[in-house]
Amino acid sequence: MSDLLTLNGVSAGYGPVSVLHGIELAVPERSITAVVGANGAGKTTLLRTIMGQIRPSAGSIRMGGTDLSKVKVEDMVRNGLALVPEGRGVITELTVDENLRLGGLWRGNSAESSRTLAEVYELFEPLQNRRKSAGHQLSGGERQMLAIGRALMAKPKLLLLDEPSLGLAPRITAQILQLLGRLRDETGLTVLLIEQNVRSALSVADHGVVLNLGRVVAARPAAELAADTDLRHTYLGF
Ligand code: ATP
Repeated sequence: MSDLLTLNGVSAGYGPVSVLHGIELAVPERSITAVVGANGAGKTTLLRTIMGQIRPSAGSIRMGGTDLSKVKVEDMVRNGLALVPEGRGVITELTVDENLRLGGLWRGNSAESSRTLAEVYELFEPLQNRRKSAGHQLSGGERQMLAIGRALMAKPKLLLLDEPSLGLAPRITAQILQLLGRLRDETGLTVLLIEQNVRSALSVADHGVVLNLGRVVAARPAAELAADTDLRHTYLGF
């Protein structure tokens, strides 16, 4: 299976503060890759760098034939990337329907958007009955579904998720992660997810990457990482 996204020697940070040091990362297409690591390991910085919100000071980021480090942040969606940010980014004053339609706006093709909207509702059944509810009326799990649904409206090739389990009950987390598995299997979506909930993330992911102090310390099949007691004790705290 070929890689959809590759990072070679990527370093990045905030002004004089360097956070990521020579990151090598390959995300195979039609798979789920989980980046795990302790607080402050640089997981969010990694996603921001891929999305172009932070420019790397060294290295290259490529998706297909495109050098993403040269793509403007506002053109990332057009290039097939969609980010579900930590805290979810749902517009709470708007209804579920309005939030979803916003996600498809840039494509400008209303017939296609309506088709995608129907697909999203099919995938996220709990949202169907909440179409006219405002974002602030939703439960945490419904809000996370809405945030993912909105990102899917842009028909991305690569979905990036920042801590999708944050603040959710374990049962709801499991439901959301299972959904990512369905998306991979049924639509061929490629997912890159960062998580502090290491056990859950590795249980759904195909590949796992461990980040520590801004460096990749392991990149292996997720099941292998989960079974490596030494690595878990040293870097993942369980
Ligand atoms: P967490 O799960 O706690 O968010 P993380 O692995 O996502 O951790 P980052 O948020 O990427 O880690 O932070 C990595 C490092 O970068 C930390 O040392 C943090 O203090 C620093 N950092 C994050 N944001 C900024 C910023 N805006 N300016 C300066 N330093 C920052």
